[in-house]
Amino acid sequence: MSAPGPPVLECEGVAKEFVRGGQVPFLAVTDLSLTVADIERRGEFICIVGPSGCGKSTLLQLIAGFDTHLPPTRGEMRFHGKPIIGPSADRGMLFQQYNCYPHLSVLDNIAFGLRLHAGALKLSGSEIIEGSMEWLRRVRLAEGDARKYPHELSGGMRQRVALARCLALKPRCLLMDEPFSALDEPTRLEMQDLIVDLWSQIDATVVLVSHSIAEAVYLGDRVWIMGPAPGTVVAEFTHVPLPDPEVPSMVAQSEPRFAECVAEVSKAFFTMLRAPREELVPIHADGSGTNKPVGGAT
Ligand code: ADP
Ligand code: MG
Repeated sequence: MSAPGPPVLECEGVAKEFVRGGQVPFLAVTDLSLTVADIERRGEFICIVGPSGCGKSTLLQLIAGFDTHLPPTRGEMRFHGKPIIGPSADRGMLFQQYNCYPHLSVLDNIAFGLRLHAGALKLSGSEIIEGSMEWLRRVRLAEGDARKYPHELSGGMRQRVALARCLALKPRCLLMDEPFSALDEPTRLEMQDLIVDLWSQIDATVVLVSHSIAEAVYLGDRVWIMGPAPGTVVAEFTHVPLPDPEVPSMVAQSEPRFAECVAEVSKAFFTMLRAPREELVPIHADGSGTNKPVGGAT
């Protein structure tokens, strides 16, 4: 077996301040010291939950390397050992709003990233079409959907298109910001099944922000809880049940073990919300790699 590479993601003492309209700078996130290891042939699935406005999207956009967020005000961020200095096809991002180009067909939407990087990826026109059709099938859209336009699709279908466009580039890391929160419950469960199935086929690390503790527990290998703004990760749960691609999410989420785990994470979440600020100690803050969370997380 080859020697382990550098971690997929490292945040060291990261903080981000925004200056809004000449006012005093607003500290959105602080003391983020996080590591996501590089697990061979199987990325980790990290889920982040936290109260609204605590900086979850800010953290994701710092990882994505968007120029609206870089550089962090303090600290360092590295991806596979290299400083994050901008966006990259290696780090795909999926937003809550279905980010499809309205003037492009489904096929052209999926092909968009492949065409943009065709030179670097050494792809011919026919390889781009074949690759896009392959991803159209893998996100469980019908071949007949290829020529449709986003306005002809449901929300869930548009999110599948956006997912296919991201995954076609084979990112090493997939960042998802509340990707299913605008969907109705059955579609949301279907999308969770799809993500579990696709994640077992790709070796990407996934970082997903969710407003649903149940979704975070279901999908994540690890669940991070962020405290109120300025946000930092104050608890980490590692002993959450892993989803089995063979078991539908609806069935898995009705298991007693699952309900217990959701109750445990929810308890930590609400304890954290009521805790005085000084008790919210960032995880990994002492550099030990161990956690000192509120609410009894392990
Ligand atoms: P969350 O995703 O947890 O709801 P965000 O990361 O979107 O929170 O935002 C955290 C805080 O930072 C909010 O108060 C938000 O208004 C502020 N913020 C986020 N992005 C910007 C920006 N580009 N400019 C100014 N303030 C911002
Ligand atoms: Mg957000």
